[in-house]
Amino acid sequence: MELRICHLYPDVLNLYGDRGNILCLRRRLEWRGIGVSVDTRPIGSPAALGGFDLIFIGGGQDFEQEALLDDLHRGRDAEIRAAVDDGAAVLAICGGYQMLGNYYETHDGRRCDFVGAIDFYTVGGEKRMIGNYLFQCGTVSGGSVVVGFENHSGRTYLGAGVNPLGTVLAGFGNNGEDGTEGVRWKNVFGSYSHGPLLPKNPSLCDMILETALARKYGAVLLEPLPDMAEKNAHSEIANRLGAENKLAFERDS
Ligand code: GLN
Repeated sequence: MELRICHLYPDVLNLYGDRGNILCLRRRLEWRGIGVSVDTRPIGSPAALGGFDLIFIGGGQDFEQEALLDDLHRGRDAEIRAAVDDGAAVLAICGGYQMLGNYYETHDGRRCDFVGAIDFYTVGGEKRMIGNYLFQCGTVSGGSVVVGFENHSGRTYLGAGVNPLGTVLAGFGNNGEDGTEGVRWKNVFGSYSHGPLLPKNPSLCDMILETALARKYGAVLLEPLPDMAEKNAHSEIANRLGAENKLAFERDS
């Protein structure tokens, strides 16, 4: 077995160590003896986006999101829509996640028309949503509890019939209002979680890998890895956030 991974726009969408997600995907495949290759598609790359099993898109500030718009609308947008419709696995973080939706209107009223691969939109607010946060993935996305870090002014609203990746347990998630976090559409996993997301959340990483492998080879159950350090780091921050959440609840109620 082998997965072909693409890191899309690594030159502009790569905040807070988002690239660590690529390292994590790669290593967890290699540790199991599964082949993996990683290619990049920066701004201006003439190479196509077709043929990849898994596409990763990191986060970026409003400036970077606007900087890639010309390139996006020279045909990358149609390629991304085709890849999503074709069932390629996609992991998209924050600004990269917003890019998959219909549009982003910045807090000072500038509108970026995005890819429209999934029916949702994002509107910038005055107040940034920043901090460590906690969410639980929906059953179709494995149900694991995810520890993350978010920093965005955009508030994302999912269209009817579009499911979130999970439910917020502590923090803001998509918009700080409806308790949703991220998006799950076909084989796309979108999340606000930087940090990077996957090394701290190996269950979610394996869920994404199994999704990509299943599309290519039929149902695959990856053999478990020891993950001692990962599990300790995960439960340490999950407990801390859970406790902070409980204290905040007691204080506010
Ligand atoms: N520019 C977007 C926002 O602030 C995304 C930021 C990010 O990727 N961290 O909402």
